[in-house]
Amino acid sequence: PEDTLAVIKPDTQHKEEILEEIQAQGFTISQLKDTILSREMAEEFYKEHREKPFFSQLVDYMCRGPCTMLVLTKENAVQEWRAAMGPTDPDQARLTAPESLRARFAKDVLENAVHGSSNTEHADQKIKFIFGDIGEI
Ligand code: ATP
Ligand code: MG
Repeated sequence: PEDTLAVIKPDTQHKEEILEEIQAQGFTISQLKDTILSREMAEEFYKEHREKPFFSQLVDYMCRGPCTMLVLTKENAVQEWRAAMGPTDPDQARLTAPESLRARFAKDVLENAVHGSSNTEHADQKIKFIFGDIGEI
């Protein structure tokens, strides 16, 4: 089986329902911790988006409160978790993947409740970053 990094982002009112869905879809939670990211950590975490117009809003959002960090394990976990989340923008998610977590729980394209690694290389990198370098609260 494969590992992916999942994040339940700050301020979601739906942490319990998201954890239930993770279980229901047969992911094994191999690691879990709650963390408040510093600005530096959030900037590093999303460094691929440094040049995007929404980068500073994204960093503000990710630092606003505790994130729940998870390593999810399953056959094809990276792709399966992306599918469970649905598209980035909940308006699109509600049209094309109405059962997805973002369709159900995202507020808007920025505050979209969950993160998932986009490929196995990123997954390995981000798992090492989050579970290697950041302390627990
Ligand atoms: P994530 O990487 O968080 O799993 P994703 O891969 O679906 O999401 P990305 O393109 O990697 O989407 O964007 C990273 C994050 O930046 C999004 O999850 C969202 O919080 C924010 N974001 C993306 N596009 C926009 C936008 N147009 N306006 C505001 N925020 C955005
Ligand atoms: Mg992404």
